[in-house]
Amino acid sequence: MSTLIMKFGGTSVGNAEAIAQACSIVKSYHQDWARLVVVVSAMRGVTDSLIECAELAVQGEEDQYQSLIEQLRANHHSAMKDIVSDEMELEQLTPQFDEYISELSEYCRSIHVLGEVTARGMDTITSLGERINAPLVAAALRGQGLAAQAVDAAQLIVTDNSFQNANPLEEATRIKVNEILVPLLNEKVIPVVTGFVAATEQGIVTTLGRGGSDYTAAILGNSLDASEVWTWTDVDGVMTADPRIVTNAMVIPELSFSEVSELAYFGAKVLHPKTLRPIIERDIPLWVKNTFNPASTGTKVIRSSKSDEGKVTAITTIRNLSLVTVEGRGMLGIPGIAARTFAAVARQGASVLMISQASSEQSICFVIPSKTVSGVIHSIESEMELELSRRDIDRVWAQPEIVIVTAVGAGLRTTPGIAGRVFSALGEARINVIAIAQGSSEYSISIVVAEKDADDAMRKIHQEVILNG
Ligand code: ADP
Ligand code: ASP
Ligand code: MG
Repeated sequence: MSTLIMKFGGTSVGNAEAIAQACSIVKSYHQDWARLVVVVSAMRGVTDSLIECAELAVQGEEDQYQSLIEQLRANHHSAMKDIVSDEMELEQLTPQFDEYISELSEYCRSIHVLGEVTARGMDTITSLGERINAPLVAAALRGQGLAAQAVDAAQLIVTDNSFQNANPLEEATRIKVNEILVPLLNEKVIPVVTGFVAATEQGIVTTLGRGGSDYTAAILGNSLDASEVWTWTDVDGVMTADPRIVTNAMVIPELSFSEVSELAYFGAKVLHPKTLRPIIERDIPLWVKNTFNPASTGTKVIRSSKSDEGKVTAITTIRNLSLVTVEGRGMLGIPGIAARTFAAVARQGASVLMISQASSEQSICFVIPSKTVSGVIHSIESEMELELSRRDIDRVWAQPEIVIVTAVGAGLRTTPGIAGRVFSALGEARINVIAIAQGSSEYSISIVVAEKDADDAMRKIHQEVILNG
């Protein structure tokens, strides 16, 4: 049976006009598919505002978080009035909106009193953006004459309790999807599912990490054995670089699962890095399309693509990082230094994005998110207390404000000359390369540069290895 999952991102459902456009897209395709599921994000900027509310509550800034909550209430109400005209729909939606907003107020008040917010609390708060928006989009679809019903993914996607970055439990999710979504689909109703949101087996709300609505679409695609998954966003597809930075970036018509996984892992925000896992498992073609330019073809992502072996397909960046270095001449002879260093990092729950170890073993460098730096340094210093006191290790230090720029492409590692061209391009532009990693996979070369050089480095590398081919 042909099944399509369509996901609309934050900008694609960011205001009444965008929601109307998204609805007309759904309407134009729904008859082509036996089963159609819609997944929606929160309106653009709403998740950020919810996080800000919680943070302001922690700081005790009551007036500020309350005014932000009022702003959220006003924005949702005005979108609702613009898009829903049916009186009965409005009568049902209005109290539902007010209920979510007063829940938000109450959570913020408790955070204010406690002076802290847990990861679990943050998930409950951030889930509200999608939970408010799905009923609105469902009502808008009904307004266009389609049978649609909002579904809260907390009822559908079962995860572990890794709050803020939860991992789905495949079997439990499949059971719920069969129980809740399949009957709707059999009745030709379009479920409008909240992206990003999930829950533990006990029903405690979790989220799939920032940008997680793409992942929701992929998880549902897997559970329903979908024929295709389409993610509708605000650019024409996956591009050779972030078009906001590299203005002459081009759309990539076709990519392989592995290339896209690598691209997303190395920071191309257009897809959540975990999106490809459920897709690969069932070999489901994925399309990335532009809500505001639906006539353009978009990017097709399939198991193996026609993309040229050895060519660089895209340049990506990961920002807000620091480079931590453990160094000392006496490190050379001590066995297990690297293992102990990374064990100390792991104890802080920090993810290491890149490692580079000088063969002399006089230093180990690795890149981690800046927000985890102070905990990580402290943890390594206590692990290496003895070595530091003996001066076998001289110091553990961090260089802040660095960025990983990655060139991604199939078979890139085996093609001679590309790394050289990347470095000459950077050399000519007098951009200093802080560290390099190439061995991590067959599909990428990563370099570390200072934040101030990152945009320029992207444009230079893009020009040299993509535009000049
Ligand atoms: P959505 O809300 O639709 O999920 P996102 O903001 O999460 O949208 O992702 C789309 C954005 O990703 C684009 O507006 C673009 O600026 C950015 N982006 C970064 N790298 C790429 C890339 N390689 N190709 C396309 N877009 C990219
Ligand atoms: N609303 C969530 C976020 O902003 C999830 C998503 O948009 O995909 O991170
Ligand atoms: Mg996104």
